[in-house]
Amino acid sequence: MPPSAGSYTSPATSAEPQDLVPFYTPKNEDGGASREAEARQVSRPPDKDAKKGSVLTRAIRIVLDADPDDRINLLEVIPPLKKFFINRKIHAAVRIIGENIFSFIIISGFLGPQDPSRNVALFIAWGMWWPSVVLSWFLLGRFWCGICPFPGIGRILQSGGYSFDLRIPRFLHRYGIYLAGFLFALILWAEETMGLKESPIGTAYLMLAILAGALICSIIFPGQAWCRYLCPMGRIIGVGSVMSFTELRADYHKCRTCTTFACRKGTEDTDGCPVYLGAVGVHNNQECLVCGKCISLCDKDSPVFNLRSPYVELIKHKGRSITCTYIIPLLMGSQLARYAQDGVLAHWIASYGPDFHMLIFTILLGTGFLFILAVVHMGGMIFGVTGDAMLGRFSPMVPVLVPISFAGELIIRLRYTLTHLPDFMPTLGRQFGMDLSSMTFPISYKFLAFLDISIFTSATLAGLHILFVFTEKEFKGLVTHGRYLLVIFLMIVVLEFYIVLGIAPILSKGF
Ligand code: SF4
Ligand code: SF4
Ligand code: SF4
Repeated sequence: MPPSAGSYTSPATSAEPQDLVPFYTPKNEDGGASREAEARQVSRPPDKDAKKGSVLTRAIRIVLDADPDDRINLLEVIPPLKKFFINRKIHAAVRIIGENIFSFIIISGFLGPQDPSRNVALFIAWGMWWPSVVLSWFLLGRFWCGICPFPGIGRILQSGGYSFDLRIPRFLHRYGIYLAGFLFALILWAEETMGLKESPIGTAYLMLAILAGALICSIIFPGQAWCRYLCPMGRIIGVGSVMSFTELRADYHKCRTCTTFACRKGTEDTDGCPVYLGAVGVHNNQECLVCGKCISLCDKDSPVFNLRSPYVELIKHKGRSITCTYIIPLLMGSQLARYAQDGVLAHWIASYGPDFHMLIFTILLGTGFLFILAVVHMGGMIFGVTGDAMLGRFSPMVPVLVPISFAGELIIRLRYTLTHLPDFMPTLGRQFGMDLSSMTFPISYKFLAFLDISIFTSATLAGLHILFVFTEKEFKGLVTHGRYLLVIFLMIVVLEFYIVLGIAPILSKGF
C-alpha cells in the first residue's frame, strides 16, 4: 500500500551511510530541522567514489542532471582555482580592485555630475555589477560574497581590536531572515520608485547604506554578522546559490580525525571562517561565502569545491528554508511589478506623476508578493506532501519556482545592461571631457527578445524537470497524475503573467 499523503519519508535518509553525517551539527536558524538532518539530505562524499568516464563526460552528465550523485572536485581539475583560494594575496588583490570600483561609484555618485548621461557610475553599478552578481549565483554560489568589498572596513577595524565582540543575540538568529527580507523589499521599492538606476547620488547612498550596515555590525559583533544575518543582497544571493553548479563542502572522512577545526576557528595567526561555519559546517550553499579561507586553513586538504547538478540541492532541500519561502515570492512578485510598470502600464502610470507612480508600484509589489505566496501555498496543498519527521515542513513549490525567479531577475538586469551598454563609452567621455561619441553600437530588440526567450525557456524546462523528479522519484506514489497536472497548470498561470507582462512587450518591439 502506498504511504498516504503527508507521511512522506525522504529516500535519501536510508540510502546514505551514517558516516557521511558530520559530527559538527549546530542548529539551523533558517528552518525547522537541524543541520544534521540537512547534511543527510544534501551532502555526498566529495568525489570519493570516482565514477568511470572522462572528466568531460562526467561534467556533461552532472550538468544535465543525468548523474545527480556525482561530483567533480574543481580544485583538483583546475589547479589555478586552488591557487586562487590558497594564495590569499591574489584574493586580497581582487578584493582591493572591487573596493576601488565601489569607492569610485560612491565618490562619483556624490561629487560627479547628476545627469545620468554624464556619469558612468550608474552603469558600473546597475549594468555591470548587479548582473554579474546575479550570474555568479548560478555559476559559483555566493562567490561574490567572498570578494565583496562591503565588509572590508569592518574587517580592518576588527583586526585592529576595534570591535565590542558581543555575542550574537538570539533575535538576530531568529528574525534576521525577516529583517533582511524587509530590507530587500525596501531596496527594490526605492530602486523603482526613487529612480535609483537613474540617480548617481541615490545609487551612492544605497552603497553607503550597505557599507554602514556591514561596518556597524562588525563594530558590535565578531566576524561578518551583517553578512550572515542581515545583508539583503546576501540573502538573495544565498537563495540563488541553491541552484548553483558548484558547492564548497568538506570531505567528512578527513574531518573525522580533526582536532583543530581550523577551518572554523582559524589558527593563532589567522582568523577562521567569517561566518563561523568552516567547511565542516557547510551543508548548503546559502551561508557559505565561498571565500576559500578554509581551504588555506585546513591541513588535511579536506575542503572541496565541487561541480554538481544545479538541481540537487533544490530537490533535496524541497524548499524548507524560511528564507526561500519568503524571498522567492518577494523576488518574483517584484519582478512582475517591475515588468508591469516597465511595460503595458508604464505610460499610464507615468502620466499621473511621481507620487502616483510610487503608490501604484507599492500596490503592484504587494500584490505580486501575495500572488506568488498564494501560488506557493496552493502548490503545496495540491502536492499534498508538505513535511516529514526528519526535515520538518517544506514547500515543494518553491524549488519549482526558483529557476523562474532566477531567470526573471537575469532578464531584468541584462535588459538594463544591454540597452545602456552602447552608451557606456560616450557617457565616460562626457564625464571626463573626451569625445567618445563615436564609440557606440546598436543593440537590436531582436537580440534582446532572443535572449529573453532562451533564458525563460531554459528556466521553465528546469522548473518542469524539478516537478517531474518530485512526482516520479522524491514523492513517488504520493502525487497522483491529477495533482501533477494541476501543479503544472498552476505553473502555467505564473508563466502567463511573466509572458504577458515581461516577454511579450519586448517581442512586440523585436519582431
Ligand atoms: S552578504 Fe552582503 S555585504 Fe556580505 S559579502 Fe555578501 S553581498 Fe557583501
Ligand atoms: S580543519 Fe579541515 S579537517 Fe578539520 S574540520 Fe575543518 S575541514 Fe575538516
Ligand atoms: S566555509 Fe570556508 S569558504 Fe565558506 S565562508 Fe567559511 S571559510 Fe569561507
